[in-house]
Amino acid sequence: MNIVVVGSGVAGVTFAEKYRALSPDDEIVIVTAEHDGYYSRPLLSRGFTKTDIEQSIILKSFDRLRENAIDVIAGSEVTAIDRNNKTIAIEGPGQEKSISYDKLILAQGSAAFVPPPFRPFEKLFFCLNSLNDLKAMRKFRQPFISQNNHPHWAVIGGGLIGCEVASDLAVAGDKVTIYHAMDRLMERQLAAEDSEHLLSVLQESGVEVLLNQAVKNFADEGGKFCVKTDVTAEFDAIIVACGFKPRTELAAAAGLEVGRGIKVNPCLQTEDNSVFVLGDAAELPGGKLYAYILPIRSQALWLANHLAGQEQALWSAAPFSTKAKVHGFEAKQPYHL
Ligand SMILES: Cc1cc2nc3c(=O)[nH]c(=O)nc-3n(C[C@H](O)[C@H](O)[C@H](O)COP(=O)(O)OP(=O)(O)OC[C@H]3O[C@@H](n4cnc5c(N)ncnc54)[C@H](O)[C@@H]3O)c2cc1C
Repeated sequence: MNIVVVGSGVAGVTFAEKYRALSPDDEIVIVTAEHDGYYSRPLLSRGFTKTDIEQSIILKSFDRLRENAIDVIAGSEVTAIDRNNKTIAIEGPGQEKSISYDKLILAQGSAAFVPPPFRPFEKLFFCLNSLNDLKAMRKFRQPFISQNNHPHWAVIGGGLIGCEVASDLAVAGDKVTIYHAMDRLMERQLAAEDSEHLLSVLQESGVEVLLNQAVKNFADEGGKFCVKTDVTAEFDAIIVACGFKPRTELAAAAGLEVGRGIKVNPCLQTEDNSVFVLGDAAELPGGKLYAYILPIRSQALWLANHLAGQEQALWSAAPFSTKAKVHGFEAKQPYHL
């Protein structure tokens, strides 16, 4: 059997390694837009206090996967799926323009969600969703640090990623202002008393937190970046952290059913029985998305067992928890997931 995996995040790599261990003779190829290897996405939010992050974030090089008989086509974008001929089209620096599959595993993850009113201003802000994003932010910051200076950042969004990145920048010495639309931080995940505690932890680390803020748009005023609410404030840089959006476009263009994610049954299978979906991109029955490492690993291991012919119950998420990586913060109540 010839298995093609799109994406080299935790979903794609965990699946490929487990399947390789179970089925030594089948072909497995990962096609990925990444260049740097398999890295830990959660560690992106420690990207400013850890000086060696660009190396230490890499969990496994692509060469190590290749040594384990998993072929990796890196720096390449899958641009189309031809379900009739069971091929995918690839754009990238390599020779391959199209490869065929018996089973296709879509493990494409999610992009940063940018609210529609912000989209015309995309050149004016950063998002923190990939190692490339982190590298761009670190590169921007470097000239300030070299001159013993620290930039002032506006972070738009006081959810999990907004709070984590604000905390890390502040602990690294930068000035940070969070704009949050709601009346408390991380209101979707935290109990009210934990939001209060989070607010004071961030404030103690020097972060300015502005709640109930309707950000309208942004402007570039000669090298200073403006955030516009009812008033206008100037910053050195802006980060938009307004959530995530599963990558569904490729599947939708191939005629697969999509909702918030790519729709799958409890065997992680789309309506095409050769195409499966894992990770942030997958929408389970009932509209459930599981955009956390633990359930994604469990999906990937389950699917590898399933395709290797092992008998098992349908996939379901075991109870799991998470933790905001805000320096000095511990929630007292369990997170809502
Ligand atoms: C800053 C940050 C902090 C986080 N912290 C935590 C945490 O503390 N705990 C936790 O549980 N979760 C955390 N998460 C969420 C967690 O990282 C994700 O749920 C998880 O990494 C998703 O894994 P995935 O394999 O589905 O997708 P990804 O890791 O996004 O991998 C998808 C890959 O597919 C590639 N790809 C997409 N489309 C194509 C294409 N057409 N062609 C080729 N390649 C393609 C992408 O380049 C990417 O490499 C965090 C996320 C972020 C952004």
